[in-house]
Amino acid sequence: SAAKEEADPEKNQGRYNLRRRKDDGDVKEAEAKSEHQEERVEKVPAAPAAPAPTPLDFGGKIGAVFWMLFLPAWVLFLVLHVDQKDPSLSNFPPALPSLETFWDPQALVFVVLWILFQALLYILPVGKLSDGVLLRSGKRLKYRTNGFFAIVVSAAMVAAAVYQGVDLTYIHSHFLQLTTASFLISMMLSIYLYFRSRSTGPDERALGGNSGNVIYDFFKGRELNPRIKEFDLKFFCEMRPGLIGWCLINFAMALAEMKQQNLDAPSCSMILVNIFQLIYVVDGLWNEEAILTTMDLMHDGFGYMLAFGDLVWVPFTYTLQARYLVSHPKPLSFPLIATIIILKIVGFYIFRKSNSEKNAFRRNPSDPRLSHLKTISTATGKSLLVSGWWGVVRHPNYLGDLIMALAWSLPCGFSHLLPWYYMIYFIILLVHRDSRDMNECRRKYGSAWDEYCRTVRYRIIPRVY
Ligand code: NDP
Repeated sequence: SAAKEEADPEKNQGRYNLRRRKDDGDVKEAEAKSEHQEERVEKVPAAPAAPAPTPLDFGGKIGAVFWMLFLPAWVLFLVLHVDQKDPSLSNFPPALPSLETFWDPQALVFVVLWILFQALLYILPVGKLSDGVLLRSGKRLKYRTNGFFAIVVSAAMVAAAVYQGVDLTYIHSHFLQLTTASFLISMMLSIYLYFRSRSTGPDERALGGNSGNVIYDFFKGRELNPRIKEFDLKFFCEMRPGLIGWCLINFAMALAEMKQQNLDAPSCSMILVNIFQLIYVVDGLWNEEAILTTMDLMHDGFGYMLAFGDLVWVPFTYTLQARYLVSHPKPLSFPLIATIIILKIVGFYIFRKSNSEKNAFRRNPSDPRLSHLKTISTATGKSLLVSGWWGVVRHPNYLGDLIMALAWSLPCGFSHLLPWYYMIYFIILLVHRDSRDMNECRRKYGSAWDEYCRTVRYRIIPRVY
């Protein structure tokens, strides 16, 4: 009968369960019940036929072509624009340099070595092996979550290199060439991913990247979890070369600022931007397991969108504030510094607490530490949190992230719009992400999702379409 209920979500309207779970009596009993439920979910046999693909996103086929051309062009413009003496809107777009300026084989070698170094750290048998979420096939994948170890070793290597006299300001002076090299690698990776996805079964494909249209599927990503033996390509690219590379680039910008401005130490604004973003990345790597329950890992296939995002977009645009500060120093008053630090702490607290709460709940719904939370049952066997952080507002994690984004831009002042680019882009990204997620959850959970939305009325992101 459970299987029948799952097949007919509409018949489950009476199953809502808006109560604190520890009020159900003995917590142990509740745990045992939930454990039993977990077991039942694990034993659900693989669906005989692949579920229908989800509707096309990002403007469909035409949209995919547009984004594939626009995104690299936008990165290029940002990279060139920030180099100008006056990077104001009136000087946008910047003049294009000659074609040969884009290419430097040495830059390509450095990017390849960096990725290989990160790959080596990833495969070392150090750190935990974590379980991924349950897949449509009924299987769970294992992930080596040793990201914190990787960033510590990377930091030690970078420190040793600087001590040996390696001039990291090369990253500042060859930014364009490093960006081009990373773009080429992301393109080659995307082509490889598309071709290998042709030999995958329906259960291995992402629902959103399996439209049958070559360009759209190439863009959106067809295979959900492409792996070479145990090496998970999507997880690796999401968490390692670009993310740790972001910190390396920021650090190099601090050195470039000292060189260019003749300083004995980086400016206060540069230190704030470096420390804030380092905390973000270190926290992400410390809690690496939590990424296994995010949209990218659970739902999106690995294709151009994520490969480009991980290897080009994150390291070469998220570093814009540090890069801006190299040649546009911004003195900060003490009250402003204090306000920015408080904002960062508040944003970080909301971001971490809400993400950890959902992750802990998804990993173990019967976790006794979460027994005070109210839930709504859904026909899929999974429940939705309607109290705690996820009961205050929908997507509380986005709120924390946005407050942090504000704290990253404020140290750059208001002279130019450019360092606010991240904040503006992030709002657009989260509006779109929120809408994608709402549609996906409505599709998955049906009337239970509507009930959740009625119970938790507030949303961080206004509904724009
Ligand atoms: P979320 O981590 O918010 O995951 C969304 C999923 O959570 C839903 O699909 C659903 O999945 C589950 N969920 C939603 N509501 C509930 C609920 N009430 N109870 C239990 N589960 C629920 O999505 P993202 O991957 O978008 O974000 C993760 C973090 O990464 C955020 O903090 C975000 O700000 C950040 N981020 C940062 C980016 C950056 O560039 N700096 C880019 C993208 C994200 P299911 O029910 O299937 O488990």
